[in-house]
Amino acid sequence: MKLTKLYSAIIGVTLLFLCLTTTHAQVIAIRAGKLIDTETGTTATNQIILVESEKIKAVGAGLPIPAGASVIDLSNYTILPGLFDAHTHLCQSTSADNRDLFTTDIREPTAYRAILGVSNAKQMLESGFTTVRDVGNNGNYADTALRQAIESGLVPGPTMINAGRIIAPFGGQYHLQPDRPELGNPEYLFADTHDEMVKAIRQNIHFGALVIKIVVDDQKYIYSADDIKFIVEEAGRAGLKVAAHCMTEKGARNAALGGVASIEHGFRMSDETLQLAKRNGVVLVGTDFPVPAAIALGLPADFAQKFHDVFIDRLKRAYKVGVTMAYGTDSFAEVEGETRGTMAISYVDSFVEAGIPAKDVLKIMTTNAAQLLGVEKQRGTIKPGMFADIIATRDSPLDNLQALKKVSFVMKNGTIIKQTP
Ligand SMILES: [Zn+2]
Repeated sequence: MKLTKLYSAIIGVTLLFLCLTTTHAQVIAIRAGKLIDTETGTTATNQIILVESEKIKAVGAGLPIPAGASVIDLSNYTILPGLFDAHTHLCQSTSADNRDLFTTDIREPTAYRAILGVSNAKQMLESGFTTVRDVGNNGNYADTALRQAIESGLVPGPTMINAGRIIAPFGGQYHLQPDRPELGNPEYLFADTHDEMVKAIRQNIHFGALVIKIVVDDQKYIYSADDIKFIVEEAGRAGLKVAAHCMTEKGARNAALGGVASIEHGFRMSDETLQLAKRNGVVLVGTDFPVPAAIALGLPADFAQKFHDVFIDRLKRAYKVGVTMAYGTDSFAEVEGETRGTMAISYVDSFVEAGIPAKDVLKIMTTNAAQLLGVEKQRGTIKPGMFADIIATRDSPLDNLQALKKVSFVMKNGTIIKQTP
């Protein structure tokens, strides 16, 4: 064989190999009977979604399906973006025999908490939550380990934006006694002065936090608006947003004035503070507990009902004021017959009870949350270039949000996680 012929043979074989490997770059074509655009609350019918490796390549009616693509027929289903839970505690759990967080946290070492996180992450994903923001209470950075294990493909789980250790004024959310002040470790980083705040933020970032979580007001001494502004600026210099746990009206007001990205819980917020949050672009992550979830916290039934009613009242007022909301559950209780995912999805009942239209709830569960988490350019919509985080339900959640409780199909980063009839 002449040398030129040998070269062209080599080039030919190489090209064939490239062609074959290109075809092998996994292309999945999803036939979508109904496709919801959660940004607009509209539905398109008979769409084709082309997924190549981790991302969405094209979406449209009558798109040609490339030869060799594997086809997933969801013609009888409604397709929508994967859901978000912007307030999880994946590496924390209380069980029916002990609902007390303090003693549970002390008993369980970080290694166990990480394994717990693996289990909860899988459960969340199987219920359709493809992205979460995990806001602390994970021992000594079990959340960072979990995030890294998910990102490397070691274990299945939602994309995580994790907070590391919660930064709080002395004592955190615990009620310590003077002989054992160290029992607040490693759950909280106590920071009372500005120097301590800087150090706590930097420690968190160094150990893998992607968001900063602060407790504003779980003690009589609370972070001032100036403290919070200081924290927001320091975190912001490293590109991190701040989530603020607020139990009181005053705490929520300080957080809104301080310019946090989100107020967590905020169930005592007045209309005036909700308006202030709206003006300052602060998102409310309401953690609006349905009654069974409130009972699972260990509250007596009558108190759980009252607790729930306060949330519903605030949810109604928040919707009326028009403050931006993102779905967040704060679910951390083990309940018999439920998974972390089924517990998290049950919070849609509160939105239904508050009379919030399904199209707005879907936005709260996807695009609003994606924006808050800072992943809106990668996740939260089904559009070309976005990561293929896709779920499907038998009935359209726009007609009935209960459909979200039976997710038949889950895809995350282009990988099928679940497919059931
Ligand atoms: Zn929480």
